Amino acid sequence: MKLLLHTCCAPCSVYCIKSLRQEGIEPTVYWFNPNIHPYTEYKARRDTLKEYTASIGVQAIFEENYGLREFCKNVVDDLNKRCVKYCYRIRLEQTAKYAKENGYDTFSTTLLISPYQNHEALKKIGEEMAEKYGLEFLYRDFRPGFRQGQAEAREIGLYMQKYCGCIFSEESRYLSHNQEIPRLPDDFEFLPVNHSINIKKERDNKEQYLELLLEADPSKEMINKYLSSGELFVLTYNDEPVCVSVVTKIDNNTVELKNIATKENYRGKGYAKKIIKYLSDNYKTRYKKMIVGTTENNIPFYVKQGFDKYEKTVKNFFVDNYDEKIKDGDLVCTDLIYYSKDLKKS
Ligand code: SF4
Repeated sequence: MKLLLHTCCAPCSVYCIKSLRQEGIEPTVYWFNPNIHPYTEYKARRDTLKEYTASIGVQAIFEENYGLREFCKNVVDDLNKRCVKYCYRIRLEQTAKYAKENGYDTFSTTLLISPYQNHEALKKIGEEMAEKYGLEFLYRDFRPGFRQGQAEAREIGLYMQKYCGCIFSEESRYLSHNQEIPRLPDDFEFLPVNHSINIKKERDNKEQYLELLLEADPSKEMINKYLSSGELFVLTYNDEPVCVSVVTKIDNNTVELKNIATKENYRGKGYAKKIIKYLSDNYKTRYKKMIVGTTENNIPFYVKQGFDKYEKTVKNFFVDNYDEKIKDGDLVCTDLIYYSKDLKKS
């Protein structure tokens, strides 16, 4: 096999190259990442990869293209779908094209290690490009090695980026970060003084929150399976319950975040984040790990809350356990994907 490995950055390549070499596959690293913003960031990532690949003796090809204008022109009409509709596609298509023209029979990408990316879409586009160019797409789920790879990269002093790459990912990384700490003038009150947020454990009459829990899990039957044994937490805003969550015990070390639901009008205001932080602080004195099962769309949210270790995928979970089709935005849910959070670190 002659493998061309599209590589997004040095830290993500650490585990991918290592595990491929363990399989006896020697990849050629292929740098093609035209929309990394700003240019100084593009250069830092590229140069780090140059140094790293030279240090481990792997062959590397650098396709120079700082395509900011081209990228903006192509994604401006549908910014929320830019990754799947444009970014993955141009990276994988260019990799496949180069592979075909230069005698490689197989290609793959280090993007498959990132829990922040849409893994299934990458796989699908990779396979599509493989068919188009008459190549093999080497699919590997590298995600279980994400944390290990990042830790090794940090240890050897590689430059670690703080956002995915494009200007929009930079915006959401720093904008959402800043929103957590609103900087208001000294004499300005953010909320009227009588507004308050509280979180408490609800011991009695948990069923009163069923309607809200159904927002996150549309099956009463499923909720009943974990509600009686689970611990229910309620976040109130001005005494109104706006976000609820159920946590169950798996074993002496592990708990599972089974359900987290926020009232529609209160979404996007950070309440789910607050309750997860509260739960992590609450459970870390008694348990080591918290797991969560989620759909593909919600992985980035959970990773940002510290659930950064991929655990497992339960294939066809939503098809096998629900009578109706379960949708999450545009996505028809099939698999349930588990991630975990190390509570000792929170
Ligand atoms: S967020 Fe990342 S994957 Fe998505 S368009 Fe930006 S650089 Fe590409």
